[in-house]
Amino acid sequence: MSDTSPVVIVGGGVIGAACAHYLTEAGRKVVILERDRFGAACSHGNCGLLSPSHILPPAEPGVFGEALKSLFKPNAPLRLAPRFDPGLWRWMAEFARRCNEPAALAAGRAIHPLLASSRALYDRLAGGELECEFAADGLLFAFQSAGAFKSFGHTDELLSKHFNAPARRLDGAELSEFEPALRPGLAGGWFYEGDAHLRPNVLMNSWRASLLARGVELREGIAVKGFRTENGRATAVHYEDAHGAAGEIEADAVVVAAGALTPDFQKALGVRVPVAPGKGYSLTLHLDEHEIDPAAVPKRPMLLPEVRVAVTPHAGGVSASGERRPAALRLGSVMEFAGYNPSIARRRLALLTRGASRFLDIPADPPADDHPTGDNRWAGWRPMTPDGVPLIGPVPGGRGVGGRNGRANNLYVAAGHNMLGLSMAPGTGRLIAELVTGAAPHLDPAPYAPGRFSRG
Ligand SMILES: Cc1cc2nc3c(=O)[nH]c(=O)nc-3n(C[C@H](O)[C@H](O)[C@H](O)COP(=O)(O)OP(=O)(O)OC[C@H]3O[C@@H](n4cnc5c(N)ncnc54)[C@H](O)[C@@H]3O)c2cc1C
Repeated sequence: MSDTSPVVIVGGGVIGAACAHYLTEAGRKVVILERDRFGAACSHGNCGLLSPSHILPPAEPGVFGEALKSLFKPNAPLRLAPRFDPGLWRWMAEFARRCNEPAALAAGRAIHPLLASSRALYDRLAGGELECEFAADGLLFAFQSAGAFKSFGHTDELLSKHFNAPARRLDGAELSEFEPALRPGLAGGWFYEGDAHLRPNVLMNSWRASLLARGVELREGIAVKGFRTENGRATAVHYEDAHGAAGEIEADAVVVAAGALTPDFQKALGVRVPVAPGKGYSLTLHLDEHEIDPAAVPKRPMLLPEVRVAVTPHAGGVSASGERRPAALRLGSVMEFAGYNPSIARRRLALLTRGASRFLDIPADPPADDHPTGDNRWAGWRPMTPDGVPLIGPVPGGRGVGGRNGRANNLYVAAGHNMLGLSMAPGTGRLIAELVTGAAPHLDPAPYAPGRFSRG
């Protein structure tokens, strides 16, 4: 390993990009190795919400029961597919154990600082070198039934009491006034004014350009296979290129940010990596092309918990390179535990349009056509951990290839960001840069320790 060896980042999603950003800011040389294309996986077509309000994780009371019932309901928005997968069963058992209020609060205490730090960092990033249709317009939760509206009041109480993060309550008529695009007669809503949103694929394009301008070397079509370790350090990364040829690159440190595929590195890292792919879908309706009445487009993003759909308006614009982006409405959601299956079934997209059309004046069925860019129908694998908390930091002692060359102390993981990878990316990247360079961390890294699932 030479003095000028880079920090090698495995994975060019939003987490890998943020790690590269803050590592270059700290003066480090960085190489990103991406097996496919930078920004094309889960960070591409997600809902674009930056949600510091999402403090409580998906393992909330009642969710596991809903998942079990879905075994017999192939069209449920939260779905556990019946399949032989002992790894997923173990993951589910660990998830089920945490579907209670104390565990949700513990996870909330872990992710709250990371969400808050990331939200503040986005103000600087979006106000500076990154173009991404960023808008700090808040997030509205809208409810059709009085029961569901009222029961969200309990979540609001928990968030107010434990995290000082209250929402503004909007009763029926107030809600219609606040968001005129909503159908009349809804029960009410809760508004989080600190949330924001952006257009994820635009962010990733812009981040790519900015990283290249900072001197980051980005190598696409390079699938990392493992690490060489010598004298307690990872000194090189082994990879295979798009033609199947093997190669090696020297490394001063390695950060594995491979999203839902991070378990592929479990053996080489020497820690349990219980990250399961939680498949979600999005459908982007372009206002002109899909004949959406601009009056039906909400002013700000919304979550519709009764139908489990997120709705994000994208204003559109013209990029620095002159590319025109049409105004659009993105619908997203569904949580499907069905392995690594990339298919996009129309009936799953119909869950999004049917759900959202109960609240907004939009078509109840997805458009029959596909957008020429291929961008309007999308699925991605969220990197889900059983406790809802990401894995960020050094592994206790990675084994490298074959485990014969000693354990490495310069292997890091930044993965398992669940439903909030976009919302937690800048804080994660900054924390990784601090840990790699030995600077004082701006957050306590203890709750994110990648070794926590390997103990006992
Ligand atoms: C429908 C949906 C909506 C969502 N909405 C939101 C939202 O509104 N707000 C929010 O905060 N989050 C949202 N998320 C979650 C968010 O998209 C993810 O948490 C985030 O994108 C994860 O980023 P990542 O960089 O870890 O993973 P990815 O973006 O998947 O990147 C990982 C990269 O690693 C690469 N890789 C894997 N293995 C290797 C290897 N061996 N060698 C080289 N490269 C490798 C992959 O090709 C990939 O490019 C949503 C997710 C979905 C599915």
